[in-house]
Amino acid sequence: MNILVLGSGGREHTFAWKIAQSNHCDNLYVAPGNSGTKSIATNLDISVTDFEAIKEAVIENGVELVVVGPEDPLVNGIHDFFLQDIDLKNVAVIGPQKAAAELEGSKEFAKRFMVRHNIPTAAYESFTKDTVEEGCKFLETLNPPYVLKADGLAAGKGVLILSSLEDAQSELKSMLVDAKFGNASTKVVIEEFLDGIELSCFVLTDGKHYKILPTAKDYKRIGEGDTGLNTGGMGAVSPVPFATKDFLDKIENTIVKPTVEGLKKDNLPYVGFVFIGLIKVGDEPKVIEYNVRMGDPETEVVLPRLKTDLVEIFQAMANQTLAEVTIEIDERAATTIMLVSGGYPEAYEKGKEIMGLGTIKDSIVFHAGANYQDDKVVTSGGRVMAVTSYGNTYQEAIKKSYQSIENLCFDKMYYRKDIGFDL
Ligand code: ATP
Repeated sequence: MNILVLGSGGREHTFAWKIAQSNHCDNLYVAPGNSGTKSIATNLDISVTDFEAIKEAVIENGVELVVVGPEDPLVNGIHDFFLQDIDLKNVAVIGPQKAAAELEGSKEFAKRFMVRHNIPTAAYESFTKDTVEEGCKFLETLNPPYVLKADGLAAGKGVLILSSLEDAQSELKSMLVDAKFGNASTKVVIEEFLDGIELSCFVLTDGKHYKILPTAKDYKRIGEGDTGLNTGGMGAVSPVPFATKDFLDKIENTIVKPTVEGLKKDNLPYVGFVFIGLIKVGDEPKVIEYNVRMGDPETEVVLPRLKTDLVEIFQAMANQTLAEVTIEIDERAATTIMLVSGGYPEAYEKGKEIMGLGTIKDSIVFHAGANYQDDKVVTSGGRVMAVTSYGNTYQEAIKKSYQSIENLCFDKMYYRKDIGFDL
């Protein structure tokens, strides 16, 4: 079958890499893609939110399966667009419909969903411009630090954690009254602070059944020791060593099952990935957030550990026969280290030639913000490449990634040198 992957990051290169290994894939397209996807698929110069252009490309290329990488097209209703169009009705889309994508699109929606289905999460209240004074009073009843979350999508920047009450109250006003995050902060969720260690769990569902993929831990901050500004992710490790069998059972029973059951009960059609951001508080898992797609860079460690044919899994999801699929996982650990442009996540330069790509033997290099300029691969974004390695232990895998990185370079290249060191 012909398959289209939407997106242009390391996540989408990893999807394309895994799909290209399947005998069920005849022609593979990626829109818009990057230099990495170009070596294994046909890149189409189309934006992920230009649904009309995507439709044209799907028809022209006889695409039967569309895999949606990022959240924006899902929250904007790409799956619904396909279902409503007579010419696209038979094209399977991996990614939930708009109503269910609200789990990521609105933090308040997600919190209500969790409360309704008894899924453990931080206690919360939500506020609007009209109730900003109540919000300030509510903050007075909490202990620091204070967690403020813009309700809508804010490119990973909409969560503030503040240690002083005055700052929290003033930020709340700036979010609600001065629209600090535009429409995304029309509502703000104020949440109890949870103290613990984070990890992510990835679930595949066809709306009726589910399968759990390996856990991963990502490293969000730019600086070593998890300091400095938040980024899209600087590295990841899978599996997560502290996620014991007992703890994983708890996640499945108290979070995964009620989530899939809740989607059914609420009549929220869902064919896709559920990314559950978790925090381990004592021995209990609690949900921090839902995302309605895979994470990046977690995909770069989770999919390399999946032995089962990904296209067969997608077909089963589309046909609602996921229960019949056996998910086989590589026992080895996988780790990835993200190489980023100097200055990221603030201002950085692009167009720097990436050297050494042909020399890497012991790792897989997934391209992210990288593209061709003439015949050269150059940087085109903040997060440039994810260097993934396998190992019998995560320490061995990390060592291999760091060794491979020694052969890669571009002007002002930066990466964290402590990925996995806290585990
Ligand atoms: P992402 O960029 O992962 O999509 P987001 O902007 O959607 O993030 P959240 O994942 O809800 O927002 O929060 C971002 C980060 O803030 C979390 O990864 C976690 O480190 C921290 N955080 C969020 N909620 C809490 C909480 N209740 N207690 C402690 N830390 C929290």
